[in-house]
Amino acid sequence: MKIRARKFDGRCGRHKRYNPAVDGRGGIRGACARCTLLCEIWEASLKLNQLIRRFDPQFDDLAPRAAPEKLEPVEDPRQLRLI
Ligand SMILES: [Zn+2]
Repeated sequence: MKIRARKFDGRCGRHKRYNPAVDGRGGIRGACARCTLLCEIWEASLKLNQLIRRFDPQFDDLAPRAAPEKLEPVEDPRQLRLI
């Protein structure tokens, strides 16, 4: 199965500052259909990532082999902040 990775840059014309990743469903004003759709796209993309990871725990190892073991000690700073 092949899924095309796509970059999606969507924005509501009436609520240009609405960002589902930050504002969530609570940030949708007046039940705006465009904002709701953006939020659903965002939620679906999160779900897709979760499903792919669950399907293959080795997912990260299948990433492009740019620098096989040199990248391993480098940790995501966002994760460090959570500890
Ligand atoms: Zn809107």
